[in-house]
Amino acid sequence: MHDHRKLGRELDLFDTDPLIGAGLPYWLPDGAAVRHALEEYVRAAERRAGYRHVYSPVLGKRELYEISGHWSHYSDDMFPPMSLGAEQVVLRPSLCPHHALIYRSRSHSHRELPLRMAELGGMYRSELSGVLGGLTRVRAIQLNDAHIFCTPDQVADEAWAALEMIRRAYEALGVAPARYRLSLPGPGGKYVVAPEMWRRSTALLTDVLDRSGLPYEAVEGEAAFYGPKIDVQVADAAGRESTLSTVQVDFHQPEQFDLHYIGADGARHRPVMVHRSVIGSVERAVAHLIEQHGGAFPAWLAPVQVEILPVSEAELPNAEALARRCVDLGLRAEVAGPERGSLGARVRQARLVPYQAVVGAKEAADDHVALRLRDGRRLAPRPADDVLARVRALVDAHSADLWDAAAS
Ligand SMILES: [Zn+2]
Repeated sequence: MHDHRKLGRELDLFDTDPLIGAGLPYWLPDGAAVRHALEEYVRAAERRAGYRHVYSPVLGKRELYEISGHWSHYSDDMFPPMSLGAEQVVLRPSLCPHHALIYRSRSHSHRELPLRMAELGGMYRSELSGVLGGLTRVRAIQLNDAHIFCTPDQVADEAWAALEMIRRAYEALGVAPARYRLSLPGPGGKYVVAPEMWRRSTALLTDVLDRSGLPYEAVEGEAAFYGPKIDVQVADAAGRESTLSTVQVDFHQPEQFDLHYIGADGARHRPVMVHRSVIGSVERAVAHLIEQHGGAFPAWLAPVQVEILPVSEAELPNAEALARRCVDLGLRAEVAGPERGSLGARVRQARLVPYQAVVGAKEAADDHVALRLRDGRRLAPRPADDVLARVRALVDAHSADLWDAAAS
């Protein structure tokens, strides 16, 4: 495995500037392309799974976090409040309180549940500068977050469905969990005091894990302050574990925000909140992907998907026209002409690009493409339209395979 900080800089994916500040990386165009593909994958998967997306602001009044419980349980990780006249506003440490208020803003019938609300939104954590570096410990975080407001009877199915979304995402991303962790409260004052609530929520998640057949470990002291979690752990280049994905059950915040729905009996009932994240923060997810793949991302995530290599100056116009056709199909393509060196040198420079399209005199005349795959396979020349359509289909399928053996 590679160190994502080193590779991220070498591959022009992200960087930092002391004037912006520690723990506040910015994304260069190639890194932004990876991140955008990842975000679009998640949003599409969420739409298919019945989630609706919202936007909410990254600031909130201090009182909001006093009600949610963050102020008393989590303030060590929060930025100090900013005074605005008579009020204080805070950079949010999580999206849950905003989503709870969005839910509360309209009345809900039991027929609307489970109500799945998703947002890829910003949140902030006052990490100490000593632990900052790269994309794994950052102060500004873009979180793939969602909250499912549901009845207690629906919690298990929703948690199960979230685990299934995580499994499919890992398959597309080519990443493997290091382990599944049932994160329980431990000693100390970090957790809300409500023994019956903890017993119920822990029983629900334990049941989901037991039924899933996944191997897991129960670990004390790792729960959220409001409830237990199923955490999907991944390991970095140095073998250090961190949480990428999570599924959490929360009886606390619905109580704090006095959320309700109208049941079939016409009376008001309290929903449960299931918090879940498929890929965690985009920062940590991309850091892990860089380390996992050494920069050779699955084709659907690659910053450049098709590198077009004209053999000589004479094929340059054809190469540029081919790049145009790629871009029109929504593929990310780049031309590396002879000014960048010999064909062999250009093939080596493009070694992380999944598809290399070599255009010689014969290919240019026939409108054919001779494709080289990143894994070393070379395909016979075939009509450019066929090749591009095939690449487009593999990218759309979020395929981990560069080529379909049956099609070559
Ligand atoms: Zn949440």
